[in-house]
Amino acid sequence: MTKIIFFQAHPDDLEHKCGHLMHYLATKSKKNHILKIASITRGEFGLPGPQYDKFKGDLLAKIRMRELFNAEKIHGIPPESIDFFGYIDGFVPFNKEFVNRVAEYLKKEKPNVIIAPEAIYSWYHHMDHINIGRAIFYIIHKKLINFTPILYFYTSLYPNFFFGFRKKDIKTLTYKLIACHKTQQWLLRYTMLPYRPFSRFAGRKLHGWDYAEPYRRVYFNKKNVYKNKPPLIVQIFTHFFSNLPWTKAKYPQVLKLKEN
Ligand SMILES: [Zn+2]
Repeated sequence: MTKIIFFQAHPDDLEHKCGHLMHYLATKSKKNHILKIASITRGEFGLPGPQYDKFKGDLLAKIRMRELFNAEKIHGIPPESIDFFGYIDGFVPFNKEFVNRVAEYLKKEKPNVIIAPEAIYSWYHHMDHINIGRAIFYIIHKKLINFTPILYFYTSLYPNFFFGFRKKDIKTLTYKLIACHKTQQWLLRYTMLPYRPFSRFAGRKLHGWDYAEPYRRVYFNKKNVYKNKPPLIVQIFTHFFSNLPWTKAKYPQVLKLKEN
């Protein structure tokens, strides 16, 4: 029995990054897998502009949880398999408290495999995402847990593992997953634009598949650790993506949320 935990910062993160792998593991794989989702925030600030301020906070969080439950229903993953950490959207820190919290969770859950947002070479440099990847990398690297789960990063600019899917699956799965996140269409409209060309590009790496989801497996044992270091071009792209203005979202202050 293999236990796989998918980490995400916000309730809609996994759909067009890991949707096909999740669907395969949850419904088609012959082996018995236990799938869990760890959602670090409930996405309570995920609407653009101050005109939506009255919806932000607990109300939006509740709606987005429901959107997530609806999407996961497509994979057959029940709400009981989704854990919320309760951090606030836009304020996921990389500090001792957060690292300990994730480490305690991993000690309790003992996953064999972790799928998490890319910590370094990311094309989606939102700090919530980056800090989750960092914390998990740090925990395994510093041996804060007494086992070594296999770690894959999504949104990586340096993928080394590709999960193939068919063109028709975009319609029958990806678009259905995306459609569940009704409050996020303003953003998904843009983040979905490069989805087809990216997946098509990734699919070239696999024989017999036109499309693929790219992942980066992170190596921890000494023999393979050199594989973690990308060529210079990836480092240049990382620098470029980490400075795009849309990755620096502006959030209301936490205090404002508490007043509501
Ligand atoms: Zn996100």
